[in-house]
Amino acid sequence: MQALVKTQKGEGFIELQDVPEPVNSDDEVLIEVKAAGICGTDIHVKHDTFPYWPPVILGHEFSGEIVKVGDNVTGWQVGDRVVGEPHTLHCGTCYLCREGHIQNCAQKRSPGWGIDGAFTKYLKYPPKLLHHIPDGMTFEQAALVEPAANCVTDIVERGSLEVGDFVVVTGPGPIGLIAAQVAKAGGAREVMIVGAPGDEELRLSTARKLGIDHVVNFAEENPVEKCLALTDGRGADLVIECSGAPPAIAQTVQLARKWGKICAIGLTGKRPVELDWDAAMTKVLTLYFSMSTAYASWDKTIWMIAEGKVNADLLVTHTLPLAEWEKAFEAVESMEALKVVLIP
Ligand SMILES: [Zn+2]
Ligand SMILES: [Zn+2]
Repeated sequence: MQALVKTQKGEGFIELQDVPEPVNSDDEVLIEVKAAGICGTDIHVKHDTFPYWPPVILGHEFSGEIVKVGDNVTGWQVGDRVVGEPHTLHCGTCYLCREGHIQNCAQKRSPGWGIDGAFTKYLKYPPKLLHHIPDGMTFEQAALVEPAANCVTDIVERGSLEVGDFVVVTGPGPIGLIAAQVAKAGGAREVMIVGAPGDEELRLSTARKLGIDHVVNFAEENPVEKCLALTDGRGADLVIECSGAPPAIAQTVQLARKWGKICAIGLTGKRPVELDWDAAMTKVLTLYFSMSTAYASWDKTIWMIAEGKVNADLLVTHTLPLAEWEKAFEAVESMEALKVVLIP
């Protein structure tokens, strides 16, 4: 089968290779991959800026159909349409696993960087990490479940959002656009999303199409002034930071109201961040960090996408065959795309 493989450490070294089909153990199922999204992680592995164990097949945001079921597997059948949590090889015995945070286990090796991933035709998988997707959901839509589940974990599961909150999202990339919709689905009364002039053409216009209440280009309108004007001078109940840009992160303290919350989702790429610590203290802010997805977020996310509360169709701007992976990666890296899905 054809697979997109990161062949060795270093910048680049990605190629389409013919590899043997995986054989599932008695405890695993074999999945035929139907769609797989390109994630920031895949880009980082390409550029050697995220841990990975080469040679490894890339891709972890997949949807597919079960084609074989191991002898010891119960509850799953050939033909089941599924998505899978990427928490493979978590140990099950460390304090994080035993607290239920298997996604943060140090032993975890996800498909796509730790073990062979989904940019290929078949994937073997432990069934305990799978979730059913409804009949009406397309595989392309389902490929968005994993990134969207990150937002649901961070915003809903961690409890940073409360019903009736005024929410500001900074950074209107695919994750910011999902976060804004998740906030709305979770009961936010109004959501304001903030982007740069370079975001205007694709990202902010998509935010408008998605019906986000207030769409702000920070070169044209001051986000803090706008936020204060919309909240009787108080500020946002919750600020969801999805840009990873140090100046935007610094501004979250100004955007949040006293006793407000900041939910950090964007990574800075190790750039230092200067925060007005004393202002955060004076405002009695709470800052939430998260990494990866919690179990309970997956079925909630599947429901949000199935109901159109998170509009996957507007976010998937490119669907390409695996053979056109170079074009697909280029579309992500040039920011000409929002979400790109590969079809193996
Ligand atoms: Zn991802
Ligand atoms: Zn563990």
